[in-house]
Amino acid sequence: MSDTETTPTNATFDQFGLHADILKAIAEQGYTTPTPIQAEAIPVVLGGRDVMGAAQTGTGKTAGFSLPIIQRLLPLASTSASPARHPVRALILTPTRELADQVAANVQAYAKHTSLRSAVVFGGVDMNPQSAELRRGVEILIATPGRLLDHVQQKTANLGQVQILVLDEADRMLDMGFLPDLQRILNLLPAERQTLLFSATFSPEIKKLASTYLRNPQTIEVARSNSTATNVTQIVYEVAEGDKTGAVVKLIRDRGLKQVIVFCNSKIGASRLARQLERDGVIATAIHGDRTQSERMQALDAFKRGEIEALVATDVAARGLDIAELPAVINFDLPFNAEDYVHRIGRTGRAGASGDALSLFSPNERKQLADIEKLIKRPLDVQRLTVDTPVRHHHDERGAPRRERDDRGGSRRRTTGAHERPHGTHHRQQPVDDFFLKPYEPSPSAVSAAAKRDEAPAAPQKPASKQPLAALLGGFGMPRKTTPSN
Ligand code: AMP
Repeated sequence: MSDTETTPTNATFDQFGLHADILKAIAEQGYTTPTPIQAEAIPVVLGGRDVMGAAQTGTGKTAGFSLPIIQRLLPLASTSASPARHPVRALILTPTRELADQVAANVQAYAKHTSLRSAVVFGGVDMNPQSAELRRGVEILIATPGRLLDHVQQKTANLGQVQILVLDEADRMLDMGFLPDLQRILNLLPAERQTLLFSATFSPEIKKLASTYLRNPQTIEVARSNSTATNVTQIVYEVAEGDKTGAVVKLIRDRGLKQVIVFCNSKIGASRLARQLERDGVIATAIHGDRTQSERMQALDAFKRGEIEALVATDVAARGLDIAELPAVINFDLPFNAEDYVHRIGRTGRAGASGDALSLFSPNERKQLADIEKLIKRPLDVQRLTVDTPVRHHHDERGAPRRERDDRGGSRRRTTGAHERPHGTHHRQQPVDDFFLKPYEPSPSAVSAAAKRDEAPAAPQKPASKQPLAALLGGFGMPRKTTPSN
């Protein structure tokens, strides 16, 4: 079995000396065994060392840094109502609002039995409730850089007592042009602090950031940098550019995909594709930077509830989304930046489950394909996909009308919320968060696999379908098609 970053370990949460209140929260999350990044990171963070971690979202890295942070802050926890007793002591910076929100939800769950307070601030929403929360005092603050600086300017956030800084998905923060903001924030922090930097890829820019701001960091790498998760089956389908929409419909239908993120390179492309998919009977919505924060959250929530089949997304919008049991992602366009490919396909095959990364490739995308293969250091399986003349579906397989959504007789424009769904539209109940409740199962082979990890060649990767972990996490019951469509 090839190594995966989610291979369960022989470690247990008890061995780290975490406080009973934290262990209780971990148990309530249904985690029984630490993931490799957790097994490696928790002791190092507890020891106070800086960390340079190579780990994608989906590996359990959030708990890997949050649990020891909570433990380290516990002696300073206070039940006092006075804001002065609750200064910001740990700051977690993330590139996107969605990721900030997810990290905050995790931190809150892990710290729920302690008196430590946490809060999240990000842009695109009213600042006032955030300001009120900050004024009451929080020890752990999760933030996107721009909004944090707004709060600093308004004096609702004071970073003078931060002892621990986490830069989550630091590579993306740099991609998104946050370096100046990051530098401003870093200048506001005490020099004497612990810094943890996580990044899916270790580009030269990231290394430079680390060498400037980290002190003698311990490098923690659970998967080779720039590698893709081994439990994701990657297939590239060669299609004519004009056949791509039909190809997406075909893949969704042929594979019975009920929940898929389709990535596009542009906002306009994403909106257009979502509309076209809807016309072809796929319940779809677009999520990109031009949509308001509440529209994006609403779309994401509806998708998580299983009410939307295809979430058509641009890279920025999709960054860091944690969607349990996502069976597949489709790249409608190959990304211009090869590293985005690694991030995109990291949306599937999460926490040990298996997934399919299906990419459409038209003849004018040869350079992108070559760049991806160079980055992941292996050739991708390219197959031809023949798309029949598009058929307009007006009913889904269950016989439920799909498109007659607007019972007010108005426009057919797609809205995102469940609330706007018309009567009679099939409402699929899909258990989403089951995933979180299922335990990891220790595997005796994990340790030796981990030991071999570093010298493992960039060999063709197999779906880890036999992993007990994947099975325990519920897998997807997805039939794996290795030689799909023609
Ligand atoms: P992350 O990489 O932090 O986004 O985590 C990915 C997913 O794995 C989240 O849904 C976590 O709740 C879940 N997770 C994290 N640690 C564990 C664990 N030790 N056992 C089971 N699930 C976990």
